[in-house]
Amino acid sequence: MTINEHASVSLAQPYVEGLAEQLLRYQHCESCAGAQTFAHDACQFCGAETLSWRTSSGHGRVLAVTVVARAPSDYFRSLAPYTLAVVTLDEGARVMGHAAAGIQIGEAVMATFFKHLDQTLVRFEPHP
Ligand SMILES: [Zn+2]
Repeated sequence: MTINEHASVSLAQPYVEGLAEQLLRYQHCESCAGAQTFAHDACQFCGAETLSWRTSSGHGRVLAVTVVARAPSDYFRSLAPYTLAVVTLDEGARVMGHAAAGIQIGEAVMATFFKHLDQTLVRFEPHP
């Protein structure tokens, strides 16, 4: 494991632990109020390091959808084919997660959670 990989694992730890508790967490910037879900040392908008973790309502809107026919790893193989969506959460952060089949760009969704092997994953379901 390189130093970089180690850093990203520990940075994302609050996100991963949140999923296990069926919570969708994101980083909130105290300086500019920007929101991001991919854990960083600094705010992607203003560069400040005053980041704290908050819990999302789980509500958002679909920005992009893709159907994965061939899983990229053994871990995901038993789930294929599956739908992935990039969702803009109401809080402003973007997060990628599994999604209900047939979900549409622009659709309002809500995060649900499911257990796959040893991990809890997010799945977005339509929520009109
Ligand atoms: Zn910021």
